[in-house]
Amino acid sequence: MASKDKKHRAMGDEEWMSRLRRTLVWIPLHHTWATTTQANFDFGLTHPTPDAEPLAAHLMSAAAVAASQPGWLPAKLRTTVPPQDQKWIAAALWKNKRLRSDLMLWYNPPLPAIIYHQVPAPERFFTHRLLVWMPYHLWKVRLSCPACRKQLTGYGAHKRARKVLDVDNYYLMITETLWCNACKIAYISSSKTILDQLDMPTRMEFTPILTQRYACDIRVIVSLRDRTQGNSPSRLVRQLRENHSREWIRSGTVLNAYTLQTGNPCSLSCSRRCQSRQLSPLTGGC
Ligand SMILES: [Zn+2]
Repeated sequence: MASKDKKHRAMGDEEWMSRLRRTLVWIPLHHTWATTTQANFDFGLTHPTPDAEPLAAHLMSAAAVAASQPGWLPAKLRTTVPPQDQKWIAAALWKNKRLRSDLMLWYNPPLPAIIYHQVPAPERFFTHRLLVWMPYHLWKVRLSCPACRKQLTGYGAHKRARKVLDVDNYYLMITETLWCNACKIAYISSSKTILDQLDMPTRMEFTPILTQRYACDIRVIVSLRDRTQGNSPSRLVRQLRENHSREWIRSGTVLNAYTLQTGNPCSLSCSRRCQSRQLSPLTGGC
């Protein structure tokens, strides 16, 4: 499906930061866009538009500080986990540099705080869900080496995290390495060799479809099954772009609303403005 001229790949960290930089500058400058969405987000009415350049610079420096303190991750894994996800994944999966014993299959990233007293760092608004596919570590499934039939043992997290295309976002997947002491061969828990050894209920929990370079969730493929007229791969690509763009704009809009809110007290005098601001920062006050 992929060609040399047209590469479909997961968004890299450099592209992510580039998009974030454009978003942070673009939204405050184009006040027209903000006002056209007042039906849903009324923040443009009550807060003055801040100077965009210092705001963007501040947010970028905050992101850099957060990325410099990512918590402990295996060194090779850190190169494939986006910077904004490193800190919470490190805390959720590792303790004293060892995988926690009480891991779960799915993790949702921490939500942004309800109230910010300072301009928030942007990374909390662009995090990803996480699939921890470690059948041996999670459920102590007995897995055997296809060559010698001896039992495989856990060898820790695999060095590469995968970005999996979902219908409206990407999620991350971290797998484990399984080791055969007799053959001295390592297997990845997401490989067909391992998946084929799982019972059906456990196997069904694994929703990504993998190729050498790419990964997408089964939900993306299911949406192609309806072979009615016009339901083509091109249409699916357009729909995915639409869904992903909408989710990206939503995250950027929420971040922008919090950013405009901090340091800009509500312009209306109302005795219940504090409660209102806490409950709904997007409304811009009372
Ligand atoms: Zn073996």
